Amino acid sequence: MRELSSKNRLNLVKKLQNQQFDLIVIGGGITGAGIALDAASRGMSVALVEQSDFASGTSSKSTKLIHGGLRYLKNLEFGLVRMVGKERAIVHRIAPHLVIPEKMLLPFYLGGSLSKFSTEIALKVYDFLAEVEEDDKYQILTTEEVIEIEPQIKTEDLQGGALYAEYRTDDARLTMEVIKTAVNEGAICMNYVKAEEFIFEKGKIQGIQCRDMIDAHVFEIKANAIVNAAGPWVDEVRKKNDSLTGKRVYPSKGIHIVIPHKRFPLINSVYFDVGDGRRIFAIPRQKTTYIGTTDTPFDGNVNYIIPSEVEAQYLIDATNNTFLDLNLKLEDIESSWAGLRPLIYEEGKSPSEMSRKDELFVSKTGLITIAGGKLTGYRKMAEKVVNKVCKKIKRRDKKTFTKCRTDEIDLIGGPFDHYDDVVAYQQIIKEKLKTLKVDVQYTEYLTANYGRQTDEILTYFSSFRDTPEIALLRAELKFCLENEMVMLPLDFIIRRTGRLYFHINSLTPFIDILLTDMQKYFGWKELVVEEEKGKILEEIEDASIYN
Ligand code: FAD
Repeated sequence: MRELSSKNRLNLVKKLQNQQFDLIVIGGGITGAGIALDAASRGMSVALVEQSDFASGTSSKSTKLIHGGLRYLKNLEFGLVRMVGKERAIVHRIAPHLVIPEKMLLPFYLGGSLSKFSTEIALKVYDFLAEVEEDDKYQILTTEEVIEIEPQIKTEDLQGGALYAEYRTDDARLTMEVIKTAVNEGAICMNYVKAEEFIFEKGKIQGIQCRDMIDAHVFEIKANAIVNAAGPWVDEVRKKNDSLTGKRVYPSKGIHIVIPHKRFPLINSVYFDVGDGRRIFAIPRQKTTYIGTTDTPFDGNVNYIIPSEVEAQYLIDATNNTFLDLNLKLEDIESSWAGLRPLIYEEGKSPSEMSRKDELFVSKTGLITIAGGKLTGYRKMAEKVVNKVCKKIKRRDKKTFTKCRTDEIDLIGGPFDHYDDVVAYQQIIKEKLKTLKVDVQYTEYLTANYGRQTDEILTYFSSFRDTPEIALLRAELKFCLENEMVMLPLDFIIRRTGRLYFHINSLTPFIDILLTDMQKYFGWKELVVEEEKGKILEEIEDASIYN
């Protein structure tokens, strides 16, 4: 997708300056990306600006599940369970390569947060509300069956378990695919462009003043409607518009830790009790198992969030209490991440109790703000916001647009009619990798991350005369530079490939090669290369702080 080539920025800035848009979206996380896609596919002209990299906020720091929200049943949020349940089926259908079915094991213990009886009722209600398909319906397991499928699980007081349906994804890749699909529908999306000020005429916002964070160039974009989808930063943006009144965002911090799979050889994804009334996930992924999450109020620096030792120890202790002889220690943490949920403040409630529902605020000056919500519900949130935008533009400019149709638009890595097609495509890629002498274990990683775009990556492969693993990485980098607006090395190693989290040890031998390729591509001076190297090393240190 040459429109998102990292070298196309000047051209895009020109287009942004020379047009009156229907809609400007501030924020390139999953919420903003979903809005841009919905609006562009209804025929609106759309500009999206992201101050850092796409998905660099919360949308790369989640548990990476597209879920039906079983835990919301505890707060009796039936409507939310029904909505997210239906949504996850749609998101799986439009991106089956990236939103992949995953059975979740839910063990129940005597004295645990859910009894066998209440679990079964909860799962029945969940399957009904979420309209779970026959193959995915829950299954109750005996104690022996739980031990058979997950031999490391603690057996004392075990009363059996259940398997229920979830979907795993990669949040940053999902955001990127939605951005690319929006661009395919005509939206202009740019990372590293910050909305700094609003432009007002007769008391109404008419546009934004932005800064290109790569070359510091300041420019204006004009539009009929502006949506603030800045996640944990939404109140900062509302302040610039003098509209920070009424409800506020209440950031809640959640962390994840990553353990080498050899050290924690988990077979199934498991959702288990911590002992304080909360449950956490442990999920096997590539050569790791990751564990999360926490849910604590946060009032620190929104731009720098790392897991604290107390939070990491909390996850370690909970895991050691549920898995026998594991004896995990802080030093076993290979990598980690921390993110902020942009929740809406509710008087007297702890973060875990606060609703994950989204809310819309419209300011007197016309700024539409969306906050709260989940990765899972991004499409529905976008529909709600764009319906509002349509009404506004119709009232003001008498222009009309079509209804939402994002439930029918395959994301850019497709199309695949069904998950079986993904499996068939994986077989083809596996054969190609064998021919290229690349470890076939990369098959699932490549097809999940890039879908059918894997073919393009493999066409670049033969131009690199390195070991197969390095050649593949360089081919992936070339693809991301040309098609996914990678501007800095961290965009590639965190958001495009997830290597910082799930393959951190592979980074050291690759850093200099990555920097050399990017230096050649962008014509960077030595000083820039040194600076970027420093940032990579800092990020590795932060992620593996306890190692
Ligand atoms: P963000 O992803 O933060 O995006 C907002 C963007 O706006 C940022 O990239 C920021 O840089 C940009 N921005 C801010 N100010 C400006 C400006 N002035 N100009 C331009 N850009 C700007 N949901 C699920 O469905 N499943 C899960 O498994 C799950 N797990 C979670 C686990 C944790 C620990 C957390 C914290 C959240 C989890 N969530 C999950 C929730 C989900 O991740 C979030 O709801 C979602 O990612 C929020 O996306 P967003 O686009 O609203 O915010």
